[in-house]
Amino acid sequence: MNANSLEQVLREDIRALSPYPVSERTGLVLLDAMENPHPLPETLQAEIAQLVSHAAINRYPDSQSVRLKERLRDAMDISSELGIMLGNGSDELIQIIALAVAKPGASLLTVEPAFVMYRMIASYAGLRYTGVQLGANFALDVEAVIAAIEQNQPALVFVAYPNNPTGNLFDRDGMTRIIQAAPGLVVIDEAYHIFAQQTFVPLLAEIPNLLVLRTLSKLGMAGLRLGFLVGRGDWLAQLEKLRLPYNVNVLTQIVAEKLLQHMDVLRVQAREINSQRDQLYAELSELPSVRAYPSDANFILFRVTQADEVFEGLIKRGVLIKNLNRSHPLLKNCLRVTVGTAQQNQMFMQALKQSLIP
Ligand code: PMP
Repeated sequence: MNANSLEQVLREDIRALSPYPVSERTGLVLLDAMENPHPLPETLQAEIAQLVSHAAINRYPDSQSVRLKERLRDAMDISSELGIMLGNGSDELIQIIALAVAKPGASLLTVEPAFVMYRMIASYAGLRYTGVQLGANFALDVEAVIAAIEQNQPALVFVAYPNNPTGNLFDRDGMTRIIQAAPGLVVIDEAYHIFAQQTFVPLLAEIPNLLVLRTLSKLGMAGLRLGFLVGRGDWLAQLEKLRLPYNVNVLTQIVAEKLLQHMDVLRVQAREINSQRDQLYAELSELPSVRAYPSDANFILFRVTQADEVFEGLIKRGVLIKNLNRSHPLLKNCLRVTVGTAQQNQMFMQALKQSLIP
């Protein structure tokens, strides 16, 4: 055989990428991935078990997910004038949008630090990438973003609202100025909407190049993998051509349809998470060697003096959070904890106090 080597066959930029980091999670208290820590009520679990036991898994799913989209519209209050597109997680939708705009020389612009998949997906799609640094306390540097937009003329701008990993909601007027300055598509990623309750959906009617991205992952359905994009029908009709026909599987469709009819349960859980977050923030702020940053999401970013040691100390005590040290210069010695149940948060606080280096 005369086979070429991996180096000869694969794209150089793909070989240069590091894979998306996912930690070994067995046997730990999981406070690393912004999941909802609460189980479903038993009655609802039983109803889902019943539905799943009858599911037609021998058939392909409904490619258009018609019923699921109706439930989403009802649950999320999305008017029939707007289009909805579904993804296997919202990260799949980020990838679809990036592929759609990836003409030679096109670029993606976002802020930094932001959700790392924006940068990784820019790479997959062969887009040039611009990351504009956030300002003091991770606020949006509106002038710097607008200057970078003018210089780079990005085909695509991504901003998460609230931002991950910093947790804050950016200034709304600043966001609006950025949306108006952008020549291409602007995607506002509202992954943490259930906690922040702030949205740009009403602007969709006025601004044609705007899309709003959401996910069900943070509401308690991370395992189902369902994200959705809301925007004008003409844009979404084009993006739909890149969606693989059966990307939302049969089980995800029926379980999500069911749970979306019980938004009351999920909203109560989100309110509980918000109140636990505020308590956790207050407790973190009391620790002299910790600087916690305010959050409108279900996680808190905090800075310590020696993040790697604290992170390892927490793992040794059975608690997994996210180590962001070295992920970005602005995140030196930063860690991010997802808000858990009251009991999990207590375990985390105890383990943190034992792991902190004075
Ligand atoms: N956007 C943001 C801002 C996120 O933080 C995440 C997950 N951490 C996602 C999108 C992706 O979520 P999913 O693929 O689970 O829908």
